[in-house]
Amino acid sequence: MHKELAIDIEFDQRHIWHPYTSTINPLPCYPVTSANGVYITLEDGTQLIDGMASWWSAIHGYSHPHLTAVAKNQLDKMSHVMFGGITHQPAVDLCKKLVSMTPQGLDTVFLADSGSVAVEVALKMALQYWHAKGQSRAKFLTLRHGYHGDTFAAMSVTDPDNSMHSLYKDFVPEHIFADSPQCGFRDEWNEDDINDFSEKLAQHHQQIAAVILEPIVQGAGGMRLYHPTYLCRVRELCDNYGVLLIADEIAVGFGRTGKLFACDHANISPDIMCVGKALTGGYMTLSATITHKKIADTICSGDAGCFMHGPTFMGNPLACAVANASLEILEQNQWQQQVASIEEQLAAELPPIAALDKVKQVRWLGAIGVIELHQPVNMVEIQQAFVNAGVWIRPFGKLVYIMPPYIITSTQLSCLTQAIYKVLNT
Ligand SMILES: *Cc1c(COP(=O)(O)O)cnc(C)c1O
Repeated sequence: MHKELAIDIEFDQRHIWHPYTSTINPLPCYPVTSANGVYITLEDGTQLIDGMASWWSAIHGYSHPHLTAVAKNQLDKMSHVMFGGITHQPAVDLCKKLVSMTPQGLDTVFLADSGSVAVEVALKMALQYWHAKGQSRAKFLTLRHGYHGDTFAAMSVTDPDNSMHSLYKDFVPEHIFADSPQCGFRDEWNEDDINDFSEKLAQHHQQIAAVILEPIVQGAGGMRLYHPTYLCRVRELCDNYGVLLIADEIAVGFGRTGKLFACDHANISPDIMCVGKALTGGYMTLSATITHKKIADTICSGDAGCFMHGPTFMGNPLACAVANASLEILEQNQWQQQVASIEEQLAAELPPIAALDKVKQVRWLGAIGVIELHQPVNMVEIQQAFVNAGVWIRPFGKLVYIMPPYIITSTQLSCLTQAIYKVLNT
């Protein structure tokens, strides 16, 4: 019997923008009605094994009983109340956890609404910091192939080619880009890798307010996994020149790389850290920018007398309560074993994929698996092929990659890697 479908896809295609889409050539969209554990259910009843964790966020899987219960309970108390002049238990509980989990010294939290806003906040903190110290420093040093978000300041420190700086050149301030790291995570460290970064910092440090980078994994700018020593050198150089270091942990924070934070691979602590994406276990948008009390106090000693930011939905109680519940699950420490098992299985199941003609390289770290191809994929065809194979994997450009929920079983993970093999072997 033909089941009537309710989601009006025609309306969607005509009136709704999806991430990075064209209204002239809208790509097909798959109607989803629910998601549970590692499964995403399409309107026609098809169940797909999720390889994306909804862009790094759904680390515990969808519709997690604890997260859902906490959300419902919080809804009965209050969904939102302004944060100006008011505080509440969910925000205090969450910030206590963030202060205790994050690398040493990070003890002052700004709650923001999305990853991009957390980055904007971090950049503003750095600018206000130097302003308060009576120095005019308005440049940021960052890396090619980096990604920090889609708002203007975040875009200005994102790889200029990927974020079309040429298109926005009258609006996006020009910052300084160092060559991206070439040494892979497991390669032998080559001291030359830091040269370009080191030279740019030496040359411009008096104008540089902060270095901003994604620690260990450059995500949306190319899924590149780089050497921990690079990050150690960056920390040393920032200390030597007295430049602030901002670590954007929005994609990789909360266990994704096998450490709680990617900075932990290099045993460094940044001056400012951004988290987002997995913060609420993928339930809703929330992010945080965390710094040291000393930096915060310097910021507030300046002309403005305060930090100049305060979004309407700052500290949203519903989001804070769910984030707190997600961090509770992480505190039970199962993620370590889960991510280690995923990594071990990727190490066994990705190398055979590297033998396929289309594949240039495979790489993995923690619960991240990357297959880099020689040519960009045909999105429409490959997306349908993955759905036909019963999995949800969304490539971009030359990259087919997975970062599944940590709860994925080894059988389910094998379905993902086998689907990739099958789809790329055509
Ligand atoms: C996704 C991402 C952002 C932006 O977060 P949004 O929530 O999409 O605004 C910033 N930095 C990194 C490293 C990201 O992966």
